[in-house]
Amino acid sequence: MIPFNKAVYLPAAFEHVADVVKSSKIAGDGKYTKLCSEWMEKRFCAKKVLMTTSCTAALEMTAILLNIQPGDEIIMPSYTFVSTANAFVLHGAKCVFVDIRPDTMNIDEKLIEKAITEKTKAIVVVHYAGVACEMDTIMEISKKYNIPVIEDAAQGVMASYKGRALGTIGDFGCYSFHETKNYTMGEGGALVINNEDYLERAEIIREKGTNRSKFYRGEIDKYTWVDIGSSFLPSEFNVSYLYGQLQMADEINNNRIESWRFYYDGLKKLENKGIVELPKVPSECIHNAHMFYLKWKNVEQRSDFIDYMKGKEISCVFHYVPLHSSFGGNKYGRMYEKDRFTTAESERLVRLPMFYKMKKEECEYIIESIINFSNT
Ligand SMILES: *Cc1c(COP(=O)(O)O)cnc(C)c1O
Repeated sequence: MIPFNKAVYLPAAFEHVADVVKSSKIAGDGKYTKLCSEWMEKRFCAKKVLMTTSCTAALEMTAILLNIQPGDEIIMPSYTFVSTANAFVLHGAKCVFVDIRPDTMNIDEKLIEKAITEKTKAIVVVHYAGVACEMDTIMEISKKYNIPVIEDAAQGVMASYKGRALGTIGDFGCYSFHETKNYTMGEGGALVINNEDYLERAEIIREKGTNRSKFYRGEIDKYTWVDIGSSFLPSEFNVSYLYGQLQMADEINNNRIESWRFYYDGLKKLENKGIVELPKVPSECIHNAHMFYLKWKNVEQRSDFIDYMKGKEISCVFHYVPLHSSFGGNKYGRMYEKDRFTTAESERLVRLPMFYKMKKEECEYIIESIINFSNT
């Protein structure tokens, strides 16, 4: 079976994890946390990167930082992972789900302004498949109404919009290093702080509401409880697994892009014949080959396709069931106006296997199987 995903594994991980074991400095905020956050700050030109236990945790930190209260409204797409919503719903907010664009599957920036009310406390955008949302338009709206923007860049590490790294454009960016993402530490993430106003408090919230970070830097002589908070920092074990991948980030990224292009070139003729649709990448965006998806005519054809590929020992999987059509989404949110594209497009979409070091023969076999399916 060709799996849908394989976690990145590099021999360097052994060395780095062993280094942590031997050092017995195994809690958070040690050598590897520093190495990883500084690597990202430098590479992505980010003001501050704080490693977290997950992207979910990073999103939750933004909800605390923005003092989200019951009754607040958060604008976001419905076509996303449940964590995008839960982070804010945990604090009593309601989700206002805005429809997506059919080309990128990202929030439709043209609908955001009309969805704003006096209760709107944040706009959360999701860069689906590592392809950026229309950030210039979104940041203009943010400025005009003074509403902060959070980038759920879980899938966007190493991707960019007009030359700027995803996660560094809004007030906050949230990365994921889950097993299913391009770079992984099993479970993990990072919070990028681009708005300096939130920096000091972010460190405190991440360290159980204490000013321990200041203490470690020698800025104060003892640390105490100063604010609300929780434990959002990952163990050095996890972070050390990630470090080797960041050092090789270009190699990993280029390798994924190669597979992505191979799929694209091999399937373009099916798109030209109007049989499938391939991903669209606006010219302002450089993506990171987080995923390669196809869109079939409808949900029935997609199910047939997934079954057909299973028969060929290829694992293809669909993606998000729109949040507004779920039990939780109904209870904790509402669709803003019409669902023109969210449901219809999500039902047609299916993801192909995509991982670091896919073999050319694997890609060839997958393309051949797709072409054979289209002839059935
Ligand atoms: C993976 C993902 C998350 C959750 O990431 P975790 O690190 O598992 O918490 C959140 N949002 C999006 C869009 C994702 O793809």
